[in-house]
Amino acid sequence: MDRIFRGIMKYRRTNRVKMVEQFIQVKNRPEPKALFFTCMDSRMLPARFTDSNVGDMFIVRNAGNLVPHSRHFQDEYTSCEPAALELGCVHNDVRHVIVCGHSDCKAMNLLHLLRETEYSNIANRRMSPLRSWLCSHAMSSLEKYQQLEVAGFHAPLIFQAETPLRRISAYIDPDDKLSVTDKLSQVNTLQQIQNIASYDFLKKRLEAYDLHIHALWFDIYTGEIHYFSRQNKQFVEINEKNVNRLVEEVSKYYC
Ligand SMILES: [Zn+2]
Repeated sequence: MDRIFRGIMKYRRTNRVKMVEQFIQVKNRPEPKALFFTCMDSRMLPARFTDSNVGDMFIVRNAGNLVPHSRHFQDEYTSCEPAALELGCVHNDVRHVIVCGHSDCKAMNLLHLLRETEYSNIANRRMSPLRSWLCSHAMSSLEKYQQLEVAGFHAPLIFQAETPLRRISAYIDPDDKLSVTDKLSQVNTLQQIQNIASYDFLKKRLEAYDLHIHALWFDIYTGEIHYFSRQNKQFVEINEKNVNRLVEEVSKYYC
């Protein structure tokens, strides 16, 4: 807590006045343009690496950047992620939902370990909320990853996108540079697109091309951020060489 208190003192000296000015600028009626789901990992600082500011985006963080599929939604057993989707895309006019995974994800490492254990054993799951969270909401990612293994990592994986008629074809790490768990993390990030699109309350906007779902992947080892390009069918690094092309791709697919 000492570190937190000293951090707050520094904030008061440096950023507080500027932030209050920004609050006034958005007139206490912020209109965020994006809803950003990412992992709770302490190395992930989305506001910093996207250079976003007061009022720019909603951020939701959890272990493994998961968004539960709508089939798990029951009145009294919901989780915060669907509520955030509703708040952002129904009560606010967010047009871009972004899921951002990352390398060396501890939740993905555990998910990969769970395949070796009796993860379906209810008694085991009740011992650990984290295992239960992953068993309930990340098994679909693991199943997709297993499809990739069976295909020898050469065939593309197919994910449903915004509507059942729109599909994403994805080659995961075609140069075979990533570890097994980092490959799984990329699969998991794309799987969340399918999960987000499963909510009925988003259907109209998704069908009308008024709401778009994107995947980013942050490489902890290099600090580089990768965008899943539907045109390239893989994650591509966002850099000076291709940023304009990616902006063009996004405006072509999602205008
Ligand atoms: Zn993580």
